[in-house]
Amino acid sequence: MVIPHFAVVGKSETGKTSLVVELIEVLRSKGYKIATIKHTKGDFSIDSEGTDTFKHAEAGSELVVFSTPSETSFVVKGALELDDILSTTSDIGGYDLVIIEGMKEEDIPKISVDEDIDGGLYHHRDVERVINWIEEEIKLFNTINKLPGSDCGRCGFKTCKKFAEEILQNRAEIQDCRRSPGDKIDLIVNGEKVELTNFPAKIIKNTLIGLVSSLKDVDDIDSIEISFDE
Ligand code: SF4
Repeated sequence: MVIPHFAVVGKSETGKTSLVVELIEVLRSKGYKIATIKHTKGDFSIDSEGTDTFKHAEAGSELVVFSTPSETSFVVKGALELDDILSTTSDIGGYDLVIIEGMKEEDIPKISVDEDIDGGLYHHRDVERVINWIEEEIKLFNTINKLPGSDCGRCGFKTCKKFAEEILQNRAEIQDCRRSPGDKIDLIVNGEKVELTNFPAKIIKNTLIGLVSSLKDVDDIDSIEISFDE
């Protein structure tokens, strides 16, 4: 499952943070549980020199968790890809939406505060319009999450996203998908199914396909089953 997300982008001092704050307030009042990501270029840390957590990291700890009765901060010493951040956010659980401030270069839905952008929405100081757009994006993500995500093209559309857009336009139905959700990945350990988010599922699937397709006598791969006991 990919948690619904979008980025608020624009040059510095053009009102990104103000818009993010306004959107959080409106969306919270509508019942959405929000997570946010602030992206910045350059070397910057929320941890400061001299603190205990700073000393832990200096000594070599690669993940430092600062825990208090009212707050938990995770500081990963090293950059993570957006997919990893979203997957971790999803694992923490319960969020309906992630709003990202920055990350203009990522291929994700975007709202621009200062100029028209391809495939995104220009803010135009119209928060109601932005909220409508966000709610449509959430619906799109939630529909994509019901599909296998393999972008196989068997439904006649190149990607599951395109097919999900057709569903939302009432021009297709989920059952028209030509692959079942079960062909994503079923990982059974000790007889119990292990729930996988998109990121680890993709890694396992791609690794297996890569390994198996390199074997002689293997042509097209429609499914792979592996089972063993230790
Ligand atoms: S057939 Fe299903 S899995 Fe394949 S692209 Fe269409 S929606 Fe995605």
